[in-house]
Amino acid sequence: MIVPMAVPMDDTMGDSPKHFCGIVAMSSNADVKYDIKKALRVIQHRGQEATGIAIHDGNSIKYVRRMGLVHEVLIGPEYDAMGGNIGIGHVRYSTTGTSCAQDCQPIVVTTNVGDAAIGHNGDLVNAAKLRTKLQNYGWAFLTNTDSEIIIRMLATELTQNSDPIKAIRTVMRNLDGAYALVFMVGKRVFGARDPLGLRPLCIGKLENGYSIASESAVFDILQGDFVRDVAPGEIVEITPSGFTSHQATTHPHTAHCMFEWVYFARPDSIIDGREVYDVRKKLGQTLAREQPVIADVVIPVPDSGRANALGYAQESGIMYEEGLMKNRYVERTFILPDQSKREEGVSLKLNPIRSTIVDKRVVVVDDSIVRGTTLRKIVQMLRHAGAKEVHVRIGCPPIIAPCYYGVDMKTRDYFIAAGRTFDEIAELIGADSVGYTSVKGLRDSLDLSEQDLCMACLTAEYPTCVPGERMRFQKTLI
Ligand code: AMP
Repeated sequence: MIVPMAVPMDDTMGDSPKHFCGIVAMSSNADVKYDIKKALRVIQHRGQEATGIAIHDGNSIKYVRRMGLVHEVLIGPEYDAMGGNIGIGHVRYSTTGTSCAQDCQPIVVTTNVGDAAIGHNGDLVNAAKLRTKLQNYGWAFLTNTDSEIIIRMLATELTQNSDPIKAIRTVMRNLDGAYALVFMVGKRVFGARDPLGLRPLCIGKLENGYSIASESAVFDILQGDFVRDVAPGEIVEITPSGFTSHQATTHPHTAHCMFEWVYFARPDSIIDGREVYDVRKKLGQTLAREQPVIADVVIPVPDSGRANALGYAQESGIMYEEGLMKNRYVERTFILPDQSKREEGVSLKLNPIRSTIVDKRVVVVDDSIVRGTTLRKIVQMLRHAGAKEVHVRIGCPPIIAPCYYGVDMKTRDYFIAAGRTFDEIAELIGADSVGYTSVKGLRDSLDLSEQDLCMACLTAEYPTCVPGERMRFQKTLI
């Protein structure tokens, strides 16, 4: 085996592209090209920068991947010429400055057992160390992605062990951090999930075969059935008639990313046994109990705060109204490169509905605050539209620490809540008051224990060893 085990970790931040993406795999008796395209459209919210598909046509893997939305990329002669019964697909979220065509996925390579392809969602925390180590062995990389490290490790492992399951298992034991993966190795298709279950991955049954995808909504829309989540540390191989399970690694607890339920996943998906919409509504109800306010109307920040606001209104008895109109054709403001562009983007994207606002004490609810750009602008708009009072309520506890597992939240000075009280935050964004759901409220709404959740961005305690950060459950020696 070429890759040494137990590679120590160092650089976790780097400038590698962040991977909060969507993945899908299919094995079927029918051509999978259209179903993979449809599935990718269902999970388009997980990544809008780039799209890719790789299909095994019986002889080799053909692929199409480039920058653009699914319906922009999977069209034209190249896509039309593809066809086959197994394949994988990927939609990619990346941050400004790191988007480039060469980093698109799936990544396809040729190995000693045939072509192989990978789609990856998540960030490895030991990527820089693994890359340096491999480069010192003479390996050359074409991209700056963690995913290329994984597929090259797999290709190397396959030279020692032609059984893909054994090879994937060995590779997984070398990886540290967040990864949900779909693979094709020759004519076989696999999915795998990191031992902490940081990123979601689930199995579905379709009319003519089986599928693995980031979110269960895929199976609803393909008129299939959700079977179950891929277990943390599990490798699943799908065939047209079923699937087999192989446990690669185990861990005494999980660390599901709370942000999947709070913001990232579709409300109609079920992740690790919990429907996203239901969790968001419960978060809103908890928020109403924990952070009550006397007001006339509850309005959501569309679309991210909608279920939270509904829960808040139901629990508080305050009337729910739509108070902000969203222009859905404006690009994502979150990743725009500077503050003035982000603020301009928010004003272009949102506009108050005056009849809901004028002379009212308004509670405006969103899922999360990161830098505070969106809410500062919204509070200004609501006051300008005639609101008497503006109270901000947030479904997620204050975000105070960076994410190393794939969510686009980088450095500490980024976060408006870091080192500030609720009153100080209210003053900064110009609101009459600000309130957040507590960490306990989040845990209760999710009905998951602290040890089974990753809440590192809220608590600054990380589920894996991240240099310079505190690991959760770490005991101080007396
Ligand atoms: P901010 O304006 O920086 O406070 O960002 C908060 C808004 O962006 C909220 O409405 C969230 O729904 C959304 N958001 C939070 N985290 C992310 C992320 N990693 N990528 C894109 N949008 C996000």
